[in-house]
Amino acid sequence: MSANEPTQAPGSVDIAGALGWARTRIELMDARVLLRFVLQCPAARLVAWPEQRLDGEDWSAYRALVERRMAGEPVAYLTGEREFFGREFMVTPAVLIPRPDTELLVELALAHFAGRKDMRVLDMGTGSGALAVTLALELDDADVIALDRSREALWVAMANAARLGASVSFVHSDWFAALGEERFHLIVANPPYVAAGDPHLEQGDVRFEPPGALAAGPAGLDDLAEIVMQAPARLEPDGWLFLEHGYDQAVAVRGLLADGGFAAIASWKDIAGIERVSGGRWLGRV
Ligand code: GLN
Repeated sequence: MSANEPTQAPGSVDIAGALGWARTRIELMDARVLLRFVLQCPAARLVAWPEQRLDGEDWSAYRALVERRMAGEPVAYLTGEREFFGREFMVTPAVLIPRPDTELLVELALAHFAGRKDMRVLDMGTGSGALAVTLALELDDADVIALDRSREALWVAMANAARLGASVSFVHSDWFAALGEERFHLIVANPPYVAAGDPHLEQGDVRFEPPGALAAGPAGLDDLAEIVMQAPARLEPDGWLFLEHGYDQAVAVRGLLADGGFAAIASWKDIAGIERVSGGRWLGRV
């Protein structure tokens, strides 16, 4: 029997054999993450102790996960977690998997507001809570409200706030509908922005993510437009709105911000060099 075809008997496969088997089926990086998850061990163990045996239960759990990954399920849904801005967030299929690109929103918020006291921050469509929780932890004393129209998402976000020790208030709301009169110094959102019918919704990991967190009308701009239109009524004078958007939507979103009366309108590039976040400052009613 070759190392690539370990038997199913307990103790018959070691770390190297399990990874060898998995890497012919899925990406090596995914194979490693899933094995670490099953063994609950640090990455270094896989390298340092390749001859460690898997017991029968771990080996069958691992094979089941590799098979689900082969069928397309995202690794983050299989392990139930994904790192964002250096912290582990719980994720379920009720929420979008946090993307590294979205860290740009956090960086912009920190660049504009670090050191500011008594800030009120709103995260719209919080999903896993990655943005709201991170901002609550990174901006001292900020009063952070996070909303989502999905109750299932809010449960996940609340669990993340609790386990990461972030103080965030959660509101069940379809965009601004259920909010009070309160105004904010900063509003951030990573809303749905994929065009309905975009073939990429039928491909890869995205197929398993909640459609309501992804698709937004024929050009993907419906939710972005609604947020930009309503944000001025919710911003303090000199408050900022930062929005994540699709790779080809920067010009359109800057246009929406201009129509909405925003100043200092700009777009910022993600790690791939694509304009991914646009925003502007609301000068307030004159
Ligand atoms: N960035 C995600 C994607 O390309 C979309 C996220 C969103 O719609 N907010 O799949």
